[in-house]
Amino acid sequence: MKEPLRVLDLGLLGGHPALDFVNTLDWRSRRPADGGPEETLVSYDALLAWCRRTGIIGDATAAELARHAAKAPARAEAVRDEAVALREALHRLAEATRRGRMAPKADLAVLNHCLLQYPEGRTLAPSGHGGFAWRSHGDGIEPGSPLGAIARLAADLLVTAEPKSIRCCAGPGCGWLFHDTSPNKRRRWCSMEACGNRAKARRHYQRVKAAG
Ligand SMILES: [Zn+2]
Repeated sequence: MKEPLRVLDLGLLGGHPALDFVNTLDWRSRRPADGGPEETLVSYDALLAWCRRTGIIGDATAAELARHAAKAPARAEAVRDEAVALREALHRLAEATRRGRMAPKADLAVLNHCLLQYPEGRTLAPSGHGGFAWRSHGDGIEPGSPLGAIARLAADLLVTAEPKSIRCCAGPGCGWLFHDTSPNKRRRWCSMEACGNRAKARRHYQRVKAAG
C-alpha cells in the first residue's frame, strides 16, 4: 500500500494559495537540531495531489497529467524539482517584499520563466446567442502546466498585496507565511490553534516557573 501523502494533511492557513504553496515546506524555520524543515512535495504525485486539493487543477486535468507523468517519469521528476525551485524563489520574493527589499533578480527570473513557459492555454470561443466562453486546450497540457497556474497566482499576489500584509508566523520553527487581511495587520500566527496556543502555553509555563 502507498504511504498517505503528508502534503494532504497540511493546514491551508496562508490566506492565499500561493502562500499555501510556499508553506509546503513545513517547519521552514526549525533548526536542524530539532529536525529541520520537512519537505512535503516529495514526488510529482504529491505536487498533483496538492494542486487538486487546492483547486488549482480539476480532477480531469489531474488524471490527464498523471497519465502524462506515467509515460514520462523523468519529465515528471524534473517538474517536481522545478516546483521546489519555484516555491523557494516565491519564498524569497515574499520575504523581500514583506521586508521592503528589492526582489532578488534570479528569483524573479524563476517566476517569470514559469509564466512564459506554461501559458494558461485558454482561448475564447463563441457560446451561442452572442455569448462567449473560455475553451481549454487539452493538447497544451503537459506535466509542468500546474506550475504556470501557481506562478500566475503568485504574481497576482505580489502585484496586488500590500507588502506589509505578507507576514511570517511567530511560532518557533513554524516559518509559515500568510496574507494578513486584518485591518491592523496584527495577526501573529498561522493559526491560533497550532502556533498561537503553543506559545501561550509556553508563556504560561514560564510565568508559573518564575513565580514558583
Ligand atoms: Zn505557525
